Amino acid sequence: MKTPVALVRCPDYNDATLDRAVAEAIELAGLPDVKGATVLLKPNILSVSGPEQAIATRGELLAAFARLLKSKGAARIVAGESPGWQSQDAAARKSGIAAACESEGVEWLDFGEGAEFECPEGRRVKRFTFAAALKQADVLVSLPKLKTHRLMRYTGAMKNLFGLVPGLGKSAFHLRFPDPADFGAMLVDLNLAAKPAFALMDAVVSMEGEGPANGRPVQTGFILASRDPLALDWIASSIIGYDPYELPYLVDAASRGAWISGPEDIELRGASVEELRPAGFELVPLRSEDKFFTDKLPAPIRRLVRNSTVARPFFDRVKCVRCGGCVKICPPKALSFVPDAKAESGKRVAIDYETCIRCYCCHEVCPADAIRLAKRPF
Ligand code: SF4
Ligand code: SF4
Repeated sequence: MKTPVALVRCPDYNDATLDRAVAEAIELAGLPDVKGATVLLKPNILSVSGPEQAIATRGELLAAFARLLKSKGAARIVAGESPGWQSQDAAARKSGIAAACESEGVEWLDFGEGAEFECPEGRRVKRFTFAAALKQADVLVSLPKLKTHRLMRYTGAMKNLFGLVPGLGKSAFHLRFPDPADFGAMLVDLNLAAKPAFALMDAVVSMEGEGPANGRPVQTGFILASRDPLALDWIASSIIGYDPYELPYLVDAASRGAWISGPEDIELRGASVEELRPAGFELVPLRSEDKFFTDKLPAPIRRLVRNSTVARPFFDRVKCVRCGGCVKICPPKALSFVPDAKAESGKRVAIDYETCIRCYCCHEVCPADAIRLAKRPF
């Protein structure tokens, strides 16, 4: 039997529009039985940012889904997210997720405390530390935002669950798996361990270009739902113009036997991809060096070559507000503050390019758009 993916037109975030679209998507995709269950919602928040920046899943979508879950008999609805280095509560408040939770009686759980989750079938990781809150859930739902991603090129239902890893614990994975192909394999293991039962994607307004935090919001006008996060990601990435076969972690996931094994297993229900494909959506291009070196060279050499060929971060002293986010999150500690007599604060960010692993975490968390990723300074 094929795996349904629901693709439903949803032009805005008004309650009535969302209630209709979410009900249709759930009907088409087939919601798991939630009667009497504790359902954990995992929106993508990433950092302290306003809804207009299109970094976070919109609170209105979470609220509409919570209303539907209540109507289906869910006993308890909880939600949580662990942003990279900032306060979980501040991120929830600024994004509008906290207000949505309050209005619908969704409990906002602390994702700071970790618990162990086994992954015997993992190829890179056999045990993860996730937010302990996940132990309370009968049903885990990924609520991603459709966005580009500088490191992984695309982020959706599967990548969103990386936020189950508490706080700066995420940096350890970047350090351990600096190569995007290895990092992607870890993400697949993570999904095997977390076992999401459903995914509902916010693609009413999506992000193109320098995602997941510094791109441009684009009105795309739809939502997607599926019981299979890979099937959803396959369709979502196709709609915006990617060839999913060039997104290594989706290809890897298709080989694991837990989800679809390819597009031939998907039954698209609702609208067609052609109907809703946004014109000229700016993607993260396929890096020829990644494609070539991933396949042909052993890991240490690949890393060395990759570091000398892919874009690296450059810091804009004028735009930088010296918040320290990049310094805190940098996995290999390649960043530090050094004295700068010209700066009002008396300091600036300095980078050690030999240590930098090109993970782009600094770029993701910078609230001032002060980091540019490029091969050369100008
Ligand atoms: S400087 Fe930025 S890109 Fe380089 S390792 Fe640190 S966080 Fe990653
Ligand atoms: S570069 Fe960005 S993240 Fe780093 S200190 Fe400056 S403003 Fe903060």
